[in-house]
Amino acid sequence: MTISFEGRVAIVTGAGGGLGRAYALELARRGAKVVVNDLGAARDGTGQSDAALKVVEEIEQAGGTAMANGGSVTDEGQMIEMVAKAKEAWGGVHILINNAGILRDKSFTKMTMDDWRLVVDVHLTGSATATKAVWDMMREQNYGRILMTASSTGLYGNFGQANYGAAKLGLAGFTKTLYLEGAKYNVKVNTIAPVAGTRMTEDIFPPEAFKAFAPENVVPAALFLVSEDAPTNQIVGAGAGFFHTAHVTMTKGKMLSTDDRTPEGVAAHWAEISDREGETVPKSGADQSMTILQSLQG
Ligand code: NAD
Repeated sequence: MTISFEGRVAIVTGAGGGLGRAYALELARRGAKVVVNDLGAARDGTGQSDAALKVVEEIEQAGGTAMANGGSVTDEGQMIEMVAKAKEAWGGVHILINNAGILRDKSFTKMTMDDWRLVVDVHLTGSATATKAVWDMMREQNYGRILMTASSTGLYGNFGQANYGAAKLGLAGFTKTLYLEGAKYNVKVNTIAPVAGTRMTEDIFPPEAFKAFAPENVVPAALFLVSEDAPTNQIVGAGAGFFHTAHVTMTKGKMLSTDDRTPEGVAAHWAEISDREGETVPKSGADQSMTILQSLQG
């Protein structure tokens, strides 16, 4: 099976370097027309450059079709304009990869609320802003593939990244409702949690690991998740050629007797409440409530 993006229009945010650039190059190589969005900011979100233009040049030199966009994902007007330009030039937008990101790493003690807001603004609200700009169009054309970018920090935690982790798990949560709202309109929504050697991680990885974790090793998962036959509501981890899925599970739990519905009762039954054997993955919040109701009846 060959996965082609012929006839598709894709927007990749933050595609002026790192992972976004690698996604954009491969989407274009496989036939997509690509909007390369990037503000060209430094790692901490400050400044601007022509990073997007350079990637467009690379794509065009390789025979592909692309358009540069220097808008910020935090600017609603710029995101609306970016989507309008893509529609005008190429008739619609089928794929959105929300990838733009910045870092303001500090322990929570040292983190200012400005550090918090900026990171949440770019990652979480920025992804919502870009998604909002394509959402109605995707519903109307009965086709859409959206990929959010989470992180192992969001899923599992990492010292010094409280702002980033909150935004990243927020994106997985965003996916979990959006996939339900998009299902009727053939809009599939997934989350990727990449690990890659980019400027974001250059001071963490030793040189050999930096090479092994080349962004190109994340591309296969990202492109599968925005392809025609993509699954939906998945969280996929990808790095150095290793791929896995991650899930928000629910343990079998325990219905406590009326007498036991006290903090002491929860403490007494904690082993059963938190026993992971037989845990399930609810498909929605309602699914979780149904399980509780069934437990009431049983
Ligand atoms: P990167 O710094 O190379 O790429 C991020 C890009 O986003 C930059 O080119 C930057 O200019 C752009 N950007 C920043 N603010 C923007 C804004 N407001 N509007 C538009 N573009 C903006 O880093 P990367 O490693 O390629 O990261 C890509 C994504 O993957 C990020 O969301 C990051 O959090 C996530 N991620 C990366 C890793 C990793 O190991 N590299 C791990 C987990 C998650």
